[in-house]
Amino acid sequence: MDDLRRFCQLLPKIELHAHLNGCIRTSTFRQLLSSTADQLRLDALDKEFQSGDTHARMANVFEKFALLRSCVTNLDEIRRITRETLEDFIADHIMYVELRTRPRSFDNGAIPMSSYVEAILETMKQYKNQICSRLILSIDRTQTVDQAMETLKLAERYRPDVVGLDLSGDPNVKSFERFLPVFNLAKQMNLPTTIHIGELPDAECLRENDLILDFKPSRLGHFNFRTKEQEQRVIKEQIPLEICPTSNLLTMKHPLAICTDDNCYVLIKLDEYIPNQPPNPANFGYWQNNSRDRTEISSSICETYYTD
Ligand SMILES: [Zn+2]
Repeated sequence: MDDLRRFCQLLPKIELHAHLNGCIRTSTFRQLLSSTADQLRLDALDKEFQSGDTHARMANVFEKFALLRSCVTNLDEIRRITRETLEDFIADHIMYVELRTRPRSFDNGAIPMSSYVEAILETMKQYKNQICSRLILSIDRTQTVDQAMETLKLAERYRPDVVGLDLSGDPNVKSFERFLPVFNLAKQMNLPTTIHIGELPDAECLRENDLILDFKPSRLGHFNFRTKEQEQRVIKEQIPLEICPTSNLLTMKHPLAICTDDNCYVLIKLDEYIPNQPPNPANFGYWQNNSRDRTEISSSICETYYTD
């Protein structure tokens, strides 16, 4: 197993589904928590996570992200998280990475969202000789349509360093329909899109899956819970899936069963570094089941987003 882990680490890889906040080092997260109460809350969340069902674990993860968001208060901390994330990916032999993040402002708007994006892009450029990195801007499911539109404008402004628009956040909030005008606009602007889909085992989630598939994003994230018809549709329409095995296993279901069908594009991704979990070789690299060679797979992925 150690040999396999080492082999997987040494393989040159691309990473297309990595949330910046989710990639924070545990030690950095702990340092940024300013109060004992926050430290104790994080301990409690780690403990509660072990006993929850899928819905509870999802809520737990997003409470942890909210805790992190509340304790990151300036651009230097964002630069640090970006720098450490890139250094970790370089150590794992990632050649190309797309980080995704929801832009935010600081100091009640005195430091605007554009400064947040620029801080990340500037940090990425410092590492350009070691890793090729690009940014995806995320719309959070709990945001307003106006806020989502602001994110779209930022994505357009910072192209080609920003390569796409994502919808993510707590899947208990079903809000794709609300954001559809924003994503339609992104499509008109030829901005690639990636949507988190099928993250919860409930009827509402399956209904939202149909709406998302009707939109036909450039890529889909997770797709853990779906109907057979939805699965066939993704295969037929050749929508690439970003699969994050460890993350998915921790929330109860693994989607790789879809790969038994021919011609399904599957991108095995990280999602986030999971605290207290050993590196899992299955997290890294990319894979497709119909035996195309690596160069072809790589260029098909690059065609999706990376065009400059
Ligand atoms: Zn994700």
